[in-house]
Amino acid sequence: RNISQAKSVSIRAFLARGYASANIPTTKNFINGQMVESKTTEWIDLKDPATNQVITRVPKSTKQEMEDAVASAKAAYKTWSKTSILTRQQVMFKFQHLIRANMKELAELVTKEQGKTLVDAEGDVLRGLQVVEHCCSITSLQLGETLPSVSKDMDTMTFRVPLGVCAGITPFNFPAMIPLWMFPLALVCGNTYVIKPSEKDPGACMRLVELGKQAGIPDGCVNVIHGMHDSVNFICDHPDIQAISFVGSDKVGRYIYERGSKHGKRVQANLGAKNHGVIMPDANKENTLTQLVGAAFGAAGQRCMALTTAVFVGESKKWIPDLVEKAKKLKVNAGHVADADLGPVISPEAKQRILDLVQSGVKDGANLALDGRKIVVKGYEKGNFVGPTILADVKTDMECYKEEIFGPVLCVLTVDTIDEAIDLINNNPYGNGTAIFTRNGATARKFTQEIDVGQIGVNVPIPVPLPMFSFTGSRASFAGDNNFYGKAGVNFYTQLKTVTSLWREQDVTDSRSATAMPI
Ligand code: NAD
Repeated sequence: RNISQAKSVSIRAFLARGYASANIPTTKNFINGQMVESKTTEWIDLKDPATNQVITRVPKSTKQEMEDAVASAKAAYKTWSKTSILTRQQVMFKFQHLIRANMKELAELVTKEQGKTLVDAEGDVLRGLQVVEHCCSITSLQLGETLPSVSKDMDTMTFRVPLGVCAGITPFNFPAMIPLWMFPLALVCGNTYVIKPSEKDPGACMRLVELGKQAGIPDGCVNVIHGMHDSVNFICDHPDIQAISFVGSDKVGRYIYERGSKHGKRVQANLGAKNHGVIMPDANKENTLTQLVGAAFGAAGQRCMALTTAVFVGESKKWIPDLVEKAKKLKVNAGHVADADLGPVISPEAKQRILDLVQSGVKDGANLALDGRKIVVKGYEKGNFVGPTILADVKTDMECYKEEIFGPVLCVLTVDTIDEAIDLINNNPYGNGTAIFTRNGATARKFTQEIDVGQIGVNVPIPVPLPMFSFTGSRASFAGDNNFYGKAGVNFYTQLKTVTSLWREQDVTDSRSATAMPI
């Protein structure tokens, strides 16, 4: 009787599992231009951050599926790399049109899986779209160099040629923008691609490659695989992959940079951050505080360029209570709710980590000027919400200052002079972004000259450069030689090939072979 009972329990459990999985859609691999169901036995539940309900299951792609993706990219490279640059440009024209036409749908996908507000999600798509628009100028961007008559009858030409199969590994916080930093530029330069989006929100990337196919990207030129450690190691080690673009956290990025480089690949890695905003007493107060609040708490602080640390200089510290009042006015809600200013953070684990870091600040002596830890959002009680939180009197040796919190938490420090503010920022290992708020041109100039950070805003809180420039985070926020997009991005996805030719009508009169270097 016990055996038959046990059997019926296990059959019920099996059926229940089958029933549950049958009702939950799966995310597919995209291989050789087709959406393919994974044969894996290992799946990752992707939960809506506002409700924690499972909305899709993401496969850990099998070794064979990953091999198929690379083989398909390798085969496609043979023809794609030989297409005319005008053909590739035309594909980008169509692709940018399709992204624009499907902007709302893409933004909804981002909000559903990632949690950010719909209007912010549209910004996520738009910033990626701008890279595709810039790819349309590839006919200028990929120009080489020539020099006639380097010697008698001899000319030299340098071409910018593609590398082969390239790969991208993306983070969860910009599920549309960051894939678009990668595969369009690689493709328009003549490479083919394998991308592994974040397992936390691959939906926007999947829709983008579908639109790419519709725009005329041939089958095999871009492929999508899924997973975490195994897929990342696969990409780092595969001999047919020439270059890796990574955006994500510090530890993972350093690991990928080292492992990929060890296998002879080019790697560009955008990493973590701790961005400081310096508030001078001569700044326009209202504008500065408004900008600061938006840049600290927008996207629930889950932006690598979020302004997470405010440094009030001298008398500007009197504005801190007004800053707190402004932050209190932000509305926290599910991302698709019309007037939400910030949505949930990505997962219960991320929320717990944020709460722990806030608590460590309190324990270390910071003043919890605004406490968003206990927020409950009506109708979304199970969501991963954290309200705007402000820790004042923070010191640079506190854990909450040293760690990237990646949540809606603003650390506030005070100093007496601009020189102290500059030293403080230059002593922080990260160099992603910083901003100064002032009405004094000389102060702003001193700051931009002396600060050792790759992206600087003067009265601009999140100074992310548009794609005709490059994303130039520096120091611990970047590993590699060539930054993302812009000219540096084209350099990353191309190598130089130089041809030296001698064209002379007459044959030589002296037929002795020269064995010395020509002088
Ligand atoms: P993450 O490093 O956890 O994940 C990034 C990618 O690495 C994902 O595809 C993930 O699957 C993979 N990954 C995660 N853990 C891994 C492991 N142990 N081994 C192998 N692969 C692993 O980053 P995230 O949490 O998705 O994104 C947030 C981080 O990204 C923040 O630190 C943020 O500052 C950074 N970021 C930086 C930039 C920039 O341009 N500097 C932009 C966006 C995000």
